[in-house]
This record gives sequence, structure tokens and C-alpha cells, in this order.
Amino acid sequence: MCGIIAAASTRNVGKLLVQGLHKMEYRGYDSAGIALHQNESIAHLRALGKVQLLEDKMVAEKPKSKLGIAHTRWATHGEPSEANAHPHKSKDTVYIVHNGIIENYIELREALIQDGYDFTSQTDSELIAHMLDYYIGQKNSMIDAMYLTKERLEGAYAIAAIDLKDDQNI
Ligand code: GLU
Repeated sequence: MCGIIAAASTRNVGKLLVQGLHKMEYRGYDSAGIALHQNESIAHLRALGKVQLLEDKMVAEKPKSKLGIAHTRWATHGEPSEANAHPHKSKDTVYIVHNGIIENYIELREALIQDGYDFTSQTDSELIAHMLDYYIGQKNSMIDAMYLTKERLEGAYAIAAIDLKDDQNI
């Protein structure tokens, strides 16, 4: 179990997302993280431990964004660590947060490694970012890539994602 939240607005969403994480902290408190679309790049902050530690990083760095996703984790695959904290990313462009378990993650992860993707975490979640990147690379929109990815995932889950090349959609 964990908490995921996403926001798109005409105003900055960083504070709103962190407030949401505080409200959902009972769902998971191993680690917390946030990805914020900033037009030229995506700000990616993660912290092992309480949401407050993530908030401290936000206060120090003050990222500004109108589109973002955030997560508070209850680890199922991979120890609690900053490397295993969500959001997970592919090639600094596609970022995801995931609640649940991907039951067929070993075979999907192997297939993506064969396609040249590098994994930096022990989670069942990271493959979702790489699979979205794979389908977006085949000229699918973010939404279509999500539908295509969903067809291949087994398990019970909820996902939110952002793509650097798309500053409108979550
Ligand atoms: N399975 C994912 C992980 O271990 C998400 C866990 C959750 O839903 O809390 O990171």
C-alpha cells in the first residue's frame, strides 16, 4: 500500500502535492518523492523516511511547476531506500508513481533489459517508466502508451506518469 497523487493547474502544484503526501502518509512512510515538470527538465526529489524530509528538500530547492506527481511508499519489492523511492524514471524524460504490485515484473523487466533499458532500482515499479518510454518512442501519445502498457501489466495497481515532451497531460 502506498499513496499516489498527481496535479495539473495554472498555479504551482509543489506545495499542494506535498500537502497531499502528508495526508496520505499513513499509507506508506518508507520514503517519499516528487517529480515536477519544468518545461526544459523535470525536477526529481526523493527522500528516505518521512514526508517531512522531502518537504525540507522542497523548501531548500523551491522547484516551480504546474504539473507533477508524488508518492509515499510502503515497500513491497526492494528495500526502503532512496534508489527504490518513487517516482521512477526512464532516460530523465518519463516519470511514474505506482501503487500496488506488478506480478509479472520479472519477465517484463528482462524484456526491457534486452531492449537496452538500464534499471537503477530493485522495485517492480521502475519497468513501467521504461515501458512507457518504449511505447512513446514508437510515436504513441502518453495516453496511448499508458493503454498499451496497461495491457501488459498483471496485478492490481494505480499509476500516474508525466513525460518531459508533454507539458499538458498526466
Ligand atoms: N510495489 C511498489 C514498490 O515496492 C509499490 C509499493 C506500494 O504500493 O506501496 O515500490
